[in-house]
Amino acid sequence: MKTTTLPRPPRVGLVSLGCPKALVDSERIITKLRGDGYQMSPDYAGADVVLVNTCGFLDSAKAESLEAIGEAIAENGRVVVTGCMGKDAEVIRERFPDVLAVTGPQQYEEVVAAVHEAAPPSASPFIDLVPEAGLKLTPRHYSYLKISEGCNHRCAFCIIPHLRGDLVSRRPDAILREAEKLVEAGTKELLVISQDTSAYGLDLKHAAWNWHGREVRAHMTDLARELGSLGAWVRLHYVYPYPHVDSVIPLMAEGLVLPYLDIPFQHASPKVLRAMKRPANDAKVLQRIREWRAQVPDLAIRSSFVVGFPGETDEDFEYLLNWLEEARLDRVGCFRFEPVEGAPATSMEDQVPDEVKAERFERVMALSARISADKLAAKIGSTIDVLIDAIDPETDGATGRSKADAPEIDGEVHLRDAGEFKAGDIVSVLVEDSDAHDLYGVSIPSS
Ligand code: SF4
Repeated sequence: MKTTTLPRPPRVGLVSLGCPKALVDSERIITKLRGDGYQMSPDYAGADVVLVNTCGFLDSAKAESLEAIGEAIAENGRVVVTGCMGKDAEVIRERFPDVLAVTGPQQYEEVVAAVHEAAPPSASPFIDLVPEAGLKLTPRHYSYLKISEGCNHRCAFCIIPHLRGDLVSRRPDAILREAEKLVEAGTKELLVISQDTSAYGLDLKHAAWNWHGREVRAHMTDLARELGSLGAWVRLHYVYPYPHVDSVIPLMAEGLVLPYLDIPFQHASPKVLRAMKRPANDAKVLQRIREWRAQVPDLAIRSSFVVGFPGETDEDFEYLLNWLEEARLDRVGCFRFEPVEGAPATSMEDQVPDEVKAERFERVMALSARISADKLAAKIGSTIDVLIDAIDPETDGATGRSKADAPEIDGEVHLRDAGEFKAGDIVSVLVEDSDAHDLYGVSIPSS
């Protein structure tokens, strides 16, 4: 019998830097490339071409991206660059003249074309190797779901709108179809991401589309309700406190959406917020938080803050600390203001000295660690649902997350028994101990 040897499929190495949105871009690109017959290479040596998906949000992220490009050039030599730093093509080309192609964020067709050029696809693409839900870089049991791209705001410290353009929302039926496939493929948790989740659908004038015989508007509330009906945990990220956010709180009370809100407040002082040009900065936020917690007592609120923004005085900073004491947020991330080329805040007067930024940073972190420790200690003795992320065969323990913990950025729940569990299982856990960020407990049979 005559046999035919198929040509070896070309292999692509991937270095993915940056935020979850960039990770979703990487997933889309590799899904397309796998559809075209490419295989992924786990190392530089086995790759016919290396794709570096860069982040250009902060100068430190740009430096990291340039370092990654340099490493890929040194180790492999055939490099295609994409992502946010693609906007700085001249900088990249000047430093690395051997780079094969530079494309910008969301230029999926261009980056795929550049890979085709660098390592042409073989004649028989293995299209059927592509799972229904596409290829994922996150573990199988949780998935980021990007609902829109770009942003209509112009915060003074941010160059995202410059990099990614104004808000462009995906149609709700397309998002729901993707979410449904992900859940069918084993996703237990959908992490909704965008630059501004509360603005979802504004550009589509909140028009309605048909989804399984129902009208679903391109609106955060409709989308959250439908996602909640798919049977997975639904976690909302990057929500700004516009008035209509109040309408997703009842969905949390109903159990359709996780009692979790990731709201990037960035500051509390009205003066600093105005200088930052933050959206929804005039909302009576503390009062709103009290009302949300009255409806959903276990609501977890995560936020991030910037200290040392130009013009931030001692009084502004004290205002922020007092606000944090009052708000008692569950999870707080803090950043020292970093000038970014092209952002208006970079050329503002009254830049804050680095040592003052460092001191303010330490004080915010210490305060939020204390609040977090108090709140976690109050959970000792309670029973919570935990989504298992990993089993540790050495200790026979497991690590997972409660409904209050997003992957990578929040705390974890450590189980001293892994039982028969596997990643992706949701188990009941009796909380026995806590520290500043994590919980410790033991699984109990679910009732
Ligand atoms: S809301 Fe502000 S910080 Fe967020 S992406 Fe838009 S401009 Fe940037």
